[in-house]
Amino acid sequence: MDVFGGLKAYDFGEVHFKFDRATGLKAIVAIHDSRMGPALGGCRFIEYDRDEDALVDALRLARGMTYKAALAGLAHGGGKSVIIRPKTRFDRVALLLAFGRFIDDLRGHYITAEDSGTGLEDMEIVRGVTKHVTGVDPSHGGSGDPSPFTALGVRRGIEASVKHRLGRDSLEGVHVAVQGVGHVGYWLCKELHDQGARLSVADIDPLKAERAQRELGASVVSLEEIFEIECDVLAPCALGSALNDRTIPRIKARIVAGAANNQLAEPRHGDDLHARGILYAPDYAINAGGLVNVAQEVKGYDAGKAREKTMKIYDTIFDIAERSQKMGSPTYRVADTIVEEKLATVSRLSVPPAPMKA
Ligand code: NAD
Repeated sequence: MDVFGGLKAYDFGEVHFKFDRATGLKAIVAIHDSRMGPALGGCRFIEYDRDEDALVDALRLARGMTYKAALAGLAHGGGKSVIIRPKTRFDRVALLLAFGRFIDDLRGHYITAEDSGTGLEDMEIVRGVTKHVTGVDPSHGGSGDPSPFTALGVRRGIEASVKHRLGRDSLEGVHVAVQGVGHVGYWLCKELHDQGARLSVADIDPLKAERAQRELGASVVSLEEIFEIECDVLAPCALGSALNDRTIPRIKARIVAGAANNQLAEPRHGDDLHARGILYAPDYAINAGGLVNVAQEVKGYDAGKAREKTMKIYDTIFDIAERSQKMGSPTYRVADTIVEEKLATVSRLSVPPAPMKA
């Protein structure tokens, strides 16, 4: 891979690599943008076929974090880190401590958190060697599991979409089809159920779908049916790329609003949804609740403030829907434009550092 060509293509200025001889740690920290503040984003700990796949993953994800943080009004830039999971036996604690020292060397320019393959216990280990970590245990002043906050934000985004597209002030009787009832999907179903919504769910894990049926009265449908069911809202809460050439033509819902990251298989699928008259709540705008919660930890965790800020996702989604309607432009492009204008304003306002005196 042409490394600097890759950085240019993803519009990056800063990537840090670490190979720790003693532990064998191979890690990457990608900082996409720090104009709004220190970069914040999770750490993946997964296997990659090739080292360059890990780099591309970090670049792609860090860029998304810049957009998510800026749109949520956080004083943070976007970053992401990756620990390449060794294919042979390894000492997890030693790798995490080496990773923590790597983060500490960056002196707060990047703040880490949980992501795929890492959890609360891992962040507790990292916390042993650096303070630039979030998502630690509530008993240590941390914010804990971000999923309930992500779900709260998605519920608020669904409410805004329902108001805008269906002219309804409440979710009472609104039918929502939830694809994936894992951490966020389950909490979202609870939120929606409490607001009187009717639920249909699908999950590759039948036990998870059955739990939503048992506890929340959801109807369980097949993995394919969830896309074509007659409903008001489709909420993708599983993996990325749920909205693609195969699924979009079958969607009957007038709104797509869910938690999953990278829901559009390609940007053009956002145009397809728009052309079909479906209101799409851009993923990074609606699923920012978990990030809002973690960002609160940097200042000294206050669950009330995190909740208050997450509730404002309603305004963000409503504003995007409104602008999209006025401009005749797809919502994903409207959201990108709002962020790019914000970042450009910060660039113009920031004063370049004074030259050093001899
Ligand atoms: P999770 O792994 O707990 O849940 C995902 C669920 O989707 C699982 O129950 C899984 O069985 C199911 N699933 C997988 N493939 C499926 C398919 N084809 N059809 C139906 N169900 C399928 O993950 P999560 O933490 O709930 O995250 C869900 C999505 O939300 C991910 O895209 C994640 O990146 C995104 N997200 C999560 C958070 C958070 O706070 N956890 C924050 C922002 C975005």
